[in-house]
Amino acid sequence: MGLEYCPRCGKLFSRTVRDICYNCHQELEKQYERVVAYLKEHPGLTLNELAEATEVSAKQITRWVREGRISIAQAPNIVIACEVCGTPIREGTMCDSCRRRLAREVKRVQMPKPAAARKNEDAASRDDTYHITDRLRDR
Ligand SMILES: [Zn+2]
Ligand SMILES: [Zn+2]
Repeated sequence: MGLEYCPRCGKLFSRTVRDICYNCHQELEKQYERVVAYLKEHPGLTLNELAEATEVSAKQITRWVREGRISIAQAPNIVIACEVCGTPIREGTMCDSCRRRLAREVKRVQMPKPAAARKNEDAASRDDTYHITDRLRDR
């Protein structure tokens, strides 16, 4: 904990659980509520249509989708891009093939410590990790 510059507005704030200042957090929550309320009425919107209609940046909406705060069920037509290769995905940060490749690379780098590597995986990719472990064992 300590004083940091808010990455959103540039003001100094004391960092606790959030990585942005209180004002920005409040503002974002208001935007979030607006987006979710709008989606409820217009669930068929694409990312750009939604951003335009709510005046919330597509980047911010994308972040909520990645964080799982906006679900596919809520927004069936919103597609986001894999952070690595740009392939359209529906949730999370990476497409399946990038996630698998990354999991393999993590394994190779941290080979003697599979438990630690597994802890760093998010729940969604945990299945892949097990499969890769099995494959390695077969060699
Ligand atoms: Zn701020
Ligand atoms: Zn990808």
